[in-house]
Amino acid sequence: MEKLSNPQKTIEILQKYQFVFQKRFGQNFLIDPHVLEKIMAAAQIGPEDCVLEIGPGIGTMTQYLAERAARVVAVEIDEGLIPILQETLKDYGNVTLIRADILKVDIKELAQEYGGGRPFKVVANLPYYITTPIVMGLLEGDAPVESITVMVQKEVADRMQAGPGSKDYGALSLAVQYYADPYIAANVPPNCFIPRPNVGSAVIRLTRHAVPPVHVEDPALLFRIIRASFNQRRKTLVNSLNNSQELACTKEEAAQALEYLGLGPSVRGEALTLEEFAGIANYLSGHIGERTEADA
Ligand code: SAM
Repeated sequence: MEKLSNPQKTIEILQKYQFVFQKRFGQNFLIDPHVLEKIMAAAQIGPEDCVLEIGPGIGTMTQYLAERAARVVAVEIDEGLIPILQETLKDYGNVTLIRADILKVDIKELAQEYGGGRPFKVVANLPYYITTPIVMGLLEGDAPVESITVMVQKEVADRMQAGPGSKDYGALSLAVQYYADPYIAANVPPNCFIPRPNVGSAVIRLTRHAVPPVHVEDPALLFRIIRASFNQRRKTLVNSLNNSQELACTKEEAAQALEYLGLGPSVRGEALTLEEFAGIANYLSGHIGERTEADA
């Protein structure tokens, strides 16, 4: 069967099934073979790999993955796409199609069932409306995931990769970088999709760290501190930590933590590295508690 990356073939299939795009599922299908090749190169799929594809759509990228990997597990929420996928993937015996919402799937179980004990390489052209819950769910949980190579909104890719001092730097940058090493592999314009999205896109690869790059006693506290620091971007860190609804931290405690790390009292969260946030969390761990109803 002719590949779906040929736009004519995509149009033919869509017409044959009279497919109606569901905006609520973030459906923008890839129609550019060069972009698909770039995604494959970034994902570094080899013949031993087990791939989890989120949202196969009509199977365009699934065909590429199936030609390279040992197995592809493709999870699609839209029931209307299943008969189409059964046709477009019929020549690929190594594809398992699952009709489900990826946010409700137990990925650990999937890996056990289909991965033969190997961690997944996740590859996807993500539905943009749930990019962050999908990516953070894959990173935070105990699912065996080695790398995540995904098409996301360009702005989100920039935020994931940003470092201190950049306007894009924030809680998402730090959360992603605690778990993984981000690398933007390609920028992708709207005309590579049908229908065209009204934002630019980028392919980003997140390679999971074997161990986090910083040691923290209490990772949950680290993330509360990070969220507090960026909730009020224009405020100093001392004020942000003191004002947070999630922390019971006085201005004095916050100032002591900064002094301990050799940071000035008027520093803002956007200037701090992950290592410095980890230092603050380790200093405050034990000094402060979680904010309770009584503190509020
Ligand atoms: N992979 C295809 C491609 O590149 O042409 C389609 C990508 S499209 C941007 C996103 C896909 O994710 C759609 O097929 C959509 O139906 C599916 N999707 C949306 N929400 C989902 C969810 N919660 N779980 C699984 N799939 C979902």
